[in-house]
Amino acid sequence: MHFDNECSRREFLKTTGAAGLGLLATAAVPGSLCAQDPGRVPTRPFGKTGADVAILSMGGMFDIPNNQLMMRQAVKWGVTYWDTANSYEGGNSELGIGKYFAKYPEDRKSIFLVTKSTAWTLKGMTEHLNLSLERMRTDAVDLFFVHAIRSISTMDKDMQKWGEKAKSEGKIRFFGFSTHSNMEECLLGAAALGWIDGIMMTYNYRLMHTDAMRRAVDACAKAGIGLTAMKTQGGGQVLTGSEEDIKRGGRFLQSGFTQGQAKLKAVWENPQIAAICSQMPSMALLSENTAAAVNKTRLSALDREALNRQAQASAAGYCAGCTRICESATAGQVPVGRIMRYLMYCRDYGNRDFARSRFRALPVETRAAMARLDYTAAESRCPQKMPIGRLMREASIELA
Ligand code: SF4
Repeated sequence: MHFDNECSRREFLKTTGAAGLGLLATAAVPGSLCAQDPGRVPTRPFGKTGADVAILSMGGMFDIPNNQLMMRQAVKWGVTYWDTANSYEGGNSELGIGKYFAKYPEDRKSIFLVTKSTAWTLKGMTEHLNLSLERMRTDAVDLFFVHAIRSISTMDKDMQKWGEKAKSEGKIRFFGFSTHSNMEECLLGAAALGWIDGIMMTYNYRLMHTDAMRRAVDACAKAGIGLTAMKTQGGGQVLTGSEEDIKRGGRFLQSGFTQGQAKLKAVWENPQIAAICSQMPSMALLSENTAAAVNKTRLSALDREALNRQAQASAAGYCAGCTRICESATAGQVPVGRIMRYLMYCRDYGNRDFARSRFRALPVETRAAMARLDYTAAESRCPQKMPIGRLMREASIELA
């Protein structure tokens, strides 16, 4: 493998996290994808809000209080869209952001700050918003999300009024929701409502090519809704179990990307997506993702084909969030999609503690029902052909 002199092989592997795939590549790795200073992340308009946002957003699900230097570096590289939630890290994510703004108050102006509430009641949301502002030592957030909605019916008239009031009080600039479940229906519904400013939804190289997702994203783009993609890695680690997997991994390195960077680029290639929210709990990942955002090389046809093959090869291990299908087949007794997500946090992201804490927050009856339910009907309807019963049983042990 040849490396430019500014980027040693060891540095590349450290920066990209591509250990294990390093021997696969034979081509040069562009310096821009591994340089110490990757440059400044570009911006895109966030729907019709008038705000421009960094195309790479710093997801706040990590120990921000003890990673202040990394936040500082993020600002220097233009990663100025920060995403957190009332619930992240038990409140420590917002407290860490508050700690940062206390030290660098001038940076608040350059940050597009987003937080979310899982209260799902108007009173609870007001309490959460006030607490978020206090924790983050700021008078207002740029965007406030009703977190993790599963149906557009959550965004009813009362919710609209709540958003308008919070705006008129100067506590939020924009209002919207995040969703990991039934995303396509939620997006289509939002486009029809006409008052949603922004949405963050699960969106990646697997889902972006389905007709339903294309229609939903088109509708939101036409309605001027700002869109942020999350879960862009599609839930999977780099597969290395077969010759074909290894060839695929090597394919991206020949183009100068890691597989993770290629997945980010696939999403950015859709100009309807304003930004990608990524959990970047280490400087190595921040650097890798920033390098991908700054680098202008487009994916080749072969890269896209490799991603499609990757999507097909690992489909049965990926939950597409169409919870209406499996949860109606189990009479809503178990939030299958949510538990699949916790498994993903644990297995794919290595965030076991977070996954377990979310799992433990489920009602005792739900956890008890998980192991004894018959998932045959749900499995037969699941478009991804997931072994739902086995995964629910594994989750009940692994996350308990
Ligand atoms: S388990 Fe299957 S049906 Fe249920 S949300 Fe996931 S992909 Fe959809």
